[in-house]
Amino acid sequence: MTTDCVFCKIAKGELSADVVYEDDKVMAFRDLNPQAPVHVLIIPKKHIPSLDSLWDEDAGVVGHIAIVARDIARKLEVHKGGYRLVNNCGEQAGQTVPHLHFHLLGGRNLGWPPG
Ligand code: AMP
Ligand code: ZN
Repeated sequence: MTTDCVFCKIAKGELSADVVYEDDKVMAFRDLNPQAPVHVLIIPKKHIPSLDSLWDEDAGVVGHIAIVARDIARKLEVHKGGYRLVNNCGEQAGQTVPHLHFHLLGGRNLGWPPG
């Protein structure tokens, strides 16, 4: 936990968010600036700055996030049309919040490659 991290504040319930899933390890909430009809952010509750700062021992939480993403996609009914799970790591990838998060996007044709 770092005191000035916005996603740590959401994970601790100090800042409100539209939460779609929570357990002891992760939290998922709607993005404030959605880029698709379904745009959910899935975060570990533990403060990990980025994928690049992941320790080997954190592999389990990333696997867990994939399972949670699968279940949220089913719950929000984008699993049939298709969806994308994205991590932006670092400046050139467009990471703006330095707390590891995965974007779950769906509900429209997303296109490929990304811009
Ligand atoms: P990234 O650019 O990959 O770091 O993604 C950060 C995302 O967090 C952006 O899509 C923002 O819209 C979103 N975001 C920032 N602050 C909040 C917040 N308080 N609640 C929900 N989403 C947020
Ligand atoms: Zn944090």
